[in-house]
Amino acid sequence: MKRPKILVLGAGYGGLSTVVNLQKAIGGDDAEIVLINKNDYHYESTWLHEAAAGTLPPERVRYDIDRVIDAQKVTFVQAEVTAIDVDNKKVTSTAGEHTYDYLVIGLGFEGETFGITGLDEYAFSIANVKAAREIREHMHMQFAAWSAEEEKDDSRLTIVVGGAGFTGIEFLGELGNRVPEWCEEYDVPREKVRVLCVEAAPMVLPGFDPELVKYAVGHLESKGIEFSIGTPLVEATPEGVKIKTGEDTFEFIPTRTVVWAAGVRGNRLIEETSIESHRARVRVEPDLRAPGYDDVFIVGDCAFMINEEADRPYPPTAQIAMQQGEQCAKNLVHLLAGKPTEKFVPDLKGSVCSLGSDDAIGVVYDKKITGKTASFMKKVVDNRSLFLLGGVGLTVKKGKFKWF
Ligand code: FAD
Ligand code: NAD
Repeated sequence: MKRPKILVLGAGYGGLSTVVNLQKAIGGDDAEIVLINKNDYHYESTWLHEAAAGTLPPERVRYDIDRVIDAQKVTFVQAEVTAIDVDNKKVTSTAGEHTYDYLVIGLGFEGETFGITGLDEYAFSIANVKAAREIREHMHMQFAAWSAEEEKDDSRLTIVVGGAGFTGIEFLGELGNRVPEWCEEYDVPREKVRVLCVEAAPMVLPGFDPELVKYAVGHLESKGIEFSIGTPLVEATPEGVKIKTGEDTFEFIPTRTVVWAAGVRGNRLIEETSIESHRARVRVEPDLRAPGYDDVFIVGDCAFMINEEADRPYPPTAQIAMQQGEQCAKNLVHLLAGKPTEKFVPDLKGSVCSLGSDDAIGVVYDKKITGKTASFMKKVVDNRSLFLLGGVGLTVKKGKFKWF
């Protein structure tokens, strides 16, 4: 008898968690599992700010997909998905056409630029390993060029970070530690370097605990980082960025480096399907299926769910993506056995925001933490996803054990 075919798109936290949990739960005869991913590696998106700042080399934030999949049960195809046709149950990739009985879409996030002029062309986004490497190389180049040139162009030494959400703050935390090292390496006086975070909202980390936000800002300012709050970035050009400082007032900041960290959207491919979405995120059914498509599950940042208690959407996080993968695998197993699916209920443990590798802030199980405790906890969280997907071996090989 023909085995049902489960096609999983994307080996991020959501897709890989689906596959790893599925391969544990079913035998090779129960279903054919095919995983398609652009690269032959999984990257820890949650560590990308460290690669972008050069704290970790790019190879440290990724591992081969082969390490965590069981080749007896899962066929891995390294290819880029180019189209998803849910009406004809067909996916097209650079490796050809793929059919399915069940589809899992876990194609992740992209930076959201909200149509702001010049950002697509002139800003970087901490979106994947290649982008992180490009940011790191670009900043080194700017320092090296400034040092070598006769007529100094100080805009090379200004780094603008757009957005003071978790991504922006974690990246600034890394820069706070890296910039003094680069100054020494490239003979640049520290006072010449400007690292500026531009935030549209009236506060840093909007909505987060004010006491912890104060701690984070104090820590980052002590490392020489500046904040411009309530001043949305409205345009990027090759020479710099324009920020809105008042009703009709603007300021131009000359810079060669703009890192845009002001929000995310789902993968654009979603918008080309007939599934309804907003910013490429699909409001999924409680069991994680796409509305109107009983054979399509969506996990991770391409999925959107409302937290009824708080009356607002769950944030797109790795924590939720991993849990969705686990539930998606369970629901697929139920469907294969002819049983009903179950509702996905997130189990939120809290969040920790790093401020470099030696400091952090967070709320864990409703308890506020800062400093070394929070920094330690962040590494525990980082290691946990390695453990859940790749067990002890992967954790020992790739984990973070330099606690402070
Ligand atoms: P992703 O991790 O984005 O993975 C998607 C996968 O799909 C990738 O492997 C990609 O290569 C692949 N792919 C994409 N397009 C294609 C295509 N066309 N064809 C084939 N393959 C494709 N969340 C937390 O909970 N805790 C944190 O500490 C945290 N820190 C973060 C730090 C940073 C710097 C950033 C940017 C995000 C952070 N997040 C954190 C958010 C978290 O990273 C995302 O919510 C999470 O990565 C979403 O997982 P995902 O599986 O949906 O997608
Ligand atoms: P975000 O949406 O959380 O924050 C974006 C920030 O950019 C907001 O503060 C917003 O006001 C600001 N902004 C928007 N438009 C702007 C403009 N024109 N000019 C200046 N500022 C502007 O996005 P993020 O920080 O990329 O986070 C994305 C998701 O990933 C979130 O769910 C977050 O919780 C998660 N994440 C978690 C961690 C962690 O747990 N440690 C780390 C990074 C990201």
